[in-house]
Amino acid sequence: MIPMVDLKKQYSRLKNRIDQAVGQTLEQTQFILGPNVGKLEKEVATYHGVPYAIGCANGTDALMLALRACGIGPGDEVITTPFTFIATAEVVALVGAKPVFVDICANTFNMDPDKITAKITPRTKAIIPVHLFGHPADMVPIMDIARKHHLKVIEDCAQAFGAKYREHTVGTMGDAGCFSFFPSKNLGCYGDGGMVITRDDQIASKIKMLRNHGSAVRYYHSEVGYNSRLDEIQAAILRVKLPEIDASNDARRQNAALYCDAIKAKDILLPTERPDCKHVYHQFTIRTRNRQAIADALSEAGIASAVYYPVPLHQQDVFLKMYNLKESLNVSETCASEVLSLPMFPELTPEEIRQIADVVNNVR
Ligand SMILES: *Cc1c(COP(=O)(O)O)cnc(C)c1O
Repeated sequence: MIPMVDLKKQYSRLKNRIDQAVGQTLEQTQFILGPNVGKLEKEVATYHGVPYAIGCANGTDALMLALRACGIGPGDEVITTPFTFIATAEVVALVGAKPVFVDICANTFNMDPDKITAKITPRTKAIIPVHLFGHPADMVPIMDIARKHHLKVIEDCAQAFGAKYREHTVGTMGDAGCFSFFPSKNLGCYGDGGMVITRDDQIASKIKMLRNHGSAVRYYHSEVGYNSRLDEIQAAILRVKLPEIDASNDARRQNAALYCDAIKAKDILLPTERPDCKHVYHQFTIRTRNRQAIADALSEAGIASAVYYPVPLHQQDVFLKMYNLKESLNVSETCASEVLSLPMFPELTPEEIRQIADVVNNVR
C-alpha cells in the first residue's frame, strides 16, 4: 500500500527530538503563547528574512487575519484563483468581502496575471495569489498590477513553504504571506497551526492583536478579534521540523524528477517548473483525459491517488448561492476535470516511484 502521504516515516526519523520537545513543553506548562511560539516566530521570520512572523490557529485564520489587518471588509472585492482549496476564498466571504475569480495558467495551475486587470473595479482592494501544489504564482506581474491599482497582496503559501520565485521565498513578496501547518502540508505539525509573515509593522501589530481577542494589553480590547493562537505544543514540534524543511523540499524535488523520468505515457501532462522558480512539490499533479482509468488501476495496485480539486470555486454551491457567478473559467474547469495527484512525500522511495509509474504507463 502506498498512501498519498506517509507521516509515520518522518515521525520515526525525528521521534526522539519531537518526543523530547513535547515532553519539555508539558513540563513547562506555558501552554498559550509560551516560549516555543515566540521562538518559532523568530525562526520563521529569520528563514524568510522578514521582521515579523505571527503564529495563529491554522492557515485559514492566517488568511483571515491578514485580510482583516489589511482593512478588507464588507463592500470590498478580492481577486483570487478559483483553482484552490476552499479556504482561500472562504476567508474573503468571512470578512464580508466578495471573492472575484480569475482563470489560471494551464501549466502552473496558478492565477493568470493577464486576466487580472479586466476584473478590477473601484471596489477591488486586494489580490490573493495561491502558490498551488508548491509552485509559485507569477508574482512580478501580479505585484505590478497591485501597485498600479493600490491593491494589497496576500500570498496563500499554505502549500509552498520554502518555494522560490527568482531569489524570493514565497510569502515575502506581497504585503503578507500566509502559511498552514496542517499535518499533511509540506511543513506540517501534529494538529492545526498557521502563521503570517510580513515586513509591515502595522499589519504585524494588528494581527498580533486580532489573534488574541483584539487586545494588545491584557483585558483592554480595541477591536473584535479572534481566539486564534498557534498552540505551544505544535510550535515545539515545528521547531524540530523547521531546520529540516529545505532538505525535505529537496527530497520532494528529487522524487518529482524521478516521476518525470519514469512516466512515459504520451497522453499525460507532467507538472512543469518554470526556470525562474523553485517548486516544492507539495503535490505531484499530472493531467490526463484518462483520469478515472488511471485512478482505478492505481487503486487496484494498492496505490493512492487524489483529485485536487474536482470543483473550481466559481462552481461551488456555497458561492453560487451568494454571488452572481455565471461566467465560465475554462482553464480551471478543464484542469479540474483532468488533474490527478500521485503519492508525494520526502520518504517515497525510487522503487515505489517506479512501481507507480509502471501502473500509470500501462493504462490505456
Ligand atoms: C490547506 C490550505 C489552506 C488552509 O489551511 P488550514 O490550516 O487547513 O486552515 C488554505 N489555502 C490553501 C491553498 C491550502 O492548501
